[in-house]
Amino acid sequence: MFINGEHVGAASGATTEVHNPATGAVVDTVPRADAEDTRRAIDAAAAAFRAWSKLPPTKRAHILEHAARTVRAGLEDVARLLTSEQGKPIRDSRIEAERCVENIEIYAGMVRGGVLAGKQVPLPAHNAMGLVVRRPIGVVGAIIPWNFPLTLMANKIAPAMAVGNTVVVKPASTTPLATLRIAELLADGGLLPGVLNVVTGPGAVVGEELIRNPLVRKIGFTGETGTGKEVARSAAGELKHVTLELGGSDAAIVCDDADLDLAARTVAIGRFFNAGQACLAVKRVYVFDSVADAFVEKIAARAKRLKLGSGTDESAQMGPLHTDKQRLEIEAQLADAVSRGGKVVAGGNRPAGEEFGAGYYFEPTVVVDVPDDARVWTEETFGPLLPIRRVSSLDEAIALANSSEYGLGSSIFTRDMARAQRAIDELDAGYTWVNAVQIAHDELPFGGTKHSGYGKEHGTEVLDYYTEQKSVVFAS
Ligand code: NAD
Repeated sequence: MFINGEHVGAASGATTEVHNPATGAVVDTVPRADAEDTRRAIDAAAAAFRAWSKLPPTKRAHILEHAARTVRAGLEDVARLLTSEQGKPIRDSRIEAERCVENIEIYAGMVRGGVLAGKQVPLPAHNAMGLVVRRPIGVVGAIIPWNFPLTLMANKIAPAMAVGNTVVVKPASTTPLATLRIAELLADGGLLPGVLNVVTGPGAVVGEELIRNPLVRKIGFTGETGTGKEVARSAAGELKHVTLELGGSDAAIVCDDADLDLAARTVAIGRFFNAGQACLAVKRVYVFDSVADAFVEKIAARAKRLKLGSGTDESAQMGPLHTDKQRLEIEAQLADAVSRGGKVVAGGNRPAGEEFGAGYYFEPTVVVDVPDDARVWTEETFGPLLPIRRVSSLDEAIALANSSEYGLGSSIFTRDMARAQRAIDELDAGYTWVNAVQIAHDELPFGGTKHSGYGKEHGTEVLDYYTEQKSVVFAS
């Protein structure tokens, strides 16, 4: 683990193995922390908070920018670790590692540029002046899932540290290695001890301690909706600030006036990137009847063309699923769809071939004619499985899109501004892409509605979730 600028083991000496999803082989072992180990990290973060938060923002920015440069020098190593523990293709790991360090630079740049400035407010009282100032919150607990271990960590630690908070990160038990490497590189680059700590161990132990410990004032959580609800319940006891980035089942609507090639290309990226293991991912398609056959043909062709391979294969476009459990879940959701009458038009199997034997591979899969009560419509599908349904109107498409309990992302493909405007106004989601690839841009606030959670990451808006505002009155 990485606590107060040092590598440490669990006090008990316990460890957990980290496995490679492409081979099942053990990549490394990491400490298995208990509550006492977690308290050590929280205490280190609390001790570092005073000095870190008191630094002028420009000085903090300077330290973070300097540390980020050291991370940049080690990015290839970070990317290789990420592929070995997560399974994703190396070129995607490089992008993820790059985006992680970029985020640290972006928020350092923002505070250097004065984004933390408050405001002066005229008051009616005689000789009185009002101010609104921003303060960091304190120690932040960042709880991260395994699908994008680095970018989802960066979404939290970058703004949190830039505004003066200190952080304890808890990576998913299956993806701690690249995270630990980033923390080490930041420390090598001059980040002060205790500002960023990483504790490895089970969510129910380490996560729970972070959530219940009164020294932790804010929890940034990304993970499943069920876990997020538990987090919210536990955090209520200490009235903690909580940001919850949870599950999603993003709908894409393809209208009869859409550019079908663009729609097929975009939906294929939106569904199969990261082997479909993304919160923001096209998980349901509603396509207008008159163009449905043509669209299905195009997307099925794209699914069949995707090159599966081990993450270390430079030409692989899709790696294995992260665990066998993930694959079994996708297979069960597909079996449910097929048992209700669904027809598989691409994929549907574990790929044949010796090179796929030991990994958790599953073909990019497209299924049609699935009734509305099937699991693929009502649950989150966290893998390369895409159901497509025909609709007769935009009204029907929007109603079906909104019938999910989730509200993370959404998209529409149309050339008609009036239809796009209806989607923007009526789709229950934190994001709507119009004719665009489902990418979360650093510049725009990101976060869901309904059971996809609350709070925002990215943009300047995230700063509202890592600072508290204080009102001040000066009287003379
Ligand atoms: P998960 O909820 O199982 O785990 C997430 C993290 O929470 C892990 O670090 C885990 O150890 C920890 N945890 C588990 N139980 C805990 C507890 N009781 N208290 C505190 N922490 C606990 O999620 P996962 O399977 O790792 O990730 C996949 C899920 O994450 C999907 O549902 C996906 O949609 C969602 N996700 C959401 C976003 C978003 O930004 N909205 C992004 C990525 C993933």
